Amino acid sequence: MNPELIKDCVHCGFCLPACPTYALWGEEMDSPRGRIHLMMQHVEGTPLTPEMAGHFDACLGCMACVTACPSGVRYDVLIESTRAEVERVHPRSRADRAFRALVFGLFPYPRRLRALRLPLKLSERLRPRVLPLLARIDPRLAAMADLAPPVAPRIRLPHRVEARGERRAVVGMLTGCVQAEFFPKVNAATARVLALEGCDVVIPPAQGCCGALSVHSGRAEEAARFARRTIETFERAGVDTVIVNAAGCGSSTKEYAELLAGDPDWAARARALRFLDFAEFLAELGPAAERHPLPITVAYHDACHLAHAQGVRSQPRALLATVPGLRLKEIPDASMCCGSAGTYNLFQPEAARDLGDRKAEQVLTVAADLLVSANPGCTMQIASAARRQGSQIRVAHTAEVLDASLRGLSPAALGHSMRQGRPR
Ligand code: SF4
Ligand code: SF4
Repeated sequence: MNPELIKDCVHCGFCLPACPTYALWGEEMDSPRGRIHLMMQHVEGTPLTPEMAGHFDACLGCMACVTACPSGVRYDVLIESTRAEVERVHPRSRADRAFRALVFGLFPYPRRLRALRLPLKLSERLRPRVLPLLARIDPRLAAMADLAPPVAPRIRLPHRVEARGERRAVVGMLTGCVQAEFFPKVNAATARVLALEGCDVVIPPAQGCCGALSVHSGRAEEAARFARRTIETFERAGVDTVIVNAAGCGSSTKEYAELLAGDPDWAARARALRFLDFAEFLAELGPAAERHPLPITVAYHDACHLAHAQGVRSQPRALLATVPGLRLKEIPDASMCCGSAGTYNLFQPEAARDLGDRKAEQVLTVAADLLVSANPGCTMQIASAARRQGSQIRVAHTAEVLDASLRGLSPAALGHSMRQGRPR
């Protein structure tokens, strides 16, 4: 924890109304200012107590406080180093260690996720009956099972998709872990849209995890390992721009140079690659392909790791606005986290559930035909909360909306609906 960065906080409290955990509990130590105060205490010699670790664990890492802070406090850097410190010195219970081993031994490994597909598919109908049993063993296991998305058929992407028409760019594409295994249509739509907009899309096979879950959980060494592997993969693919369509992955790949700062060679290699969010890149490239009308009302949800961590807010909206007939509605209190936040809804299921319920209520007031977001975690979280409230929300990624317009599909072909964990 860098004391100089901690001292940037002038304790003004402007960040408090933006903080989801402060909104939930109204406790100073569960606000950004309170957590920064705890960091300072620890830097000045106070040992890290279980209570302090609890306040840090309860932080979503949503970075709404970074957006809200007028003094430019780098809470993002502070909380990542704090989490690393918590992992180093805070002894966790056996149950905690086992659950963390399960999560971090599973999610960053696409092959292991793939192996889960069949059991998940077979157990889809049983899930409502199994959930209460799991909740009795460990509420976190129940949260994990409840959030599991329906198993979609696998889609094998080619290693290269050629640009349609005049070639305007050559880009790499990060396929992700959860995105690749559970939302393959999003990756397929991303590649199609990029190609239709004049890009050769290079999709290296056997991509690993980008390190997002690890870096956001204080597992810096593991994250650096994943980062080096991802850099090597795209260097070998011969691209210098890599498109990322999942918000959490986008924010972590943009931090590679900082993550690898201790190794100047790797930091330089990280800086030589440009990781860009899908909408950010297309807004920069400008539209070229013909858009067909898509008469549909869309509510756009800002994923925190896109809006707060990457500052990408206007680009997805601008992209959606290029679709004729599409009506874009704003969700009230849009900057508030939905509670998904990487692995937060697995580790802190109660708080995540409360935030998910609040977000689903806000989304439902908009009465849109489709909820659009750029993060699979948010999509699963909000759909699951809406289901609890007896509503179904059809969900899609920005890339899928654009893909439908470019291909002249009808709005009915768009979006996944999740009912009792099953696709409709
Ligand atoms: S983090 Fe920023 S907004 Fe929050 S109390 Fe400190 S200086 Fe003020
Ligand atoms: S990252 Fe989010 S939850 Fe954590 S202190 Fe900042 S606003 Fe609050």
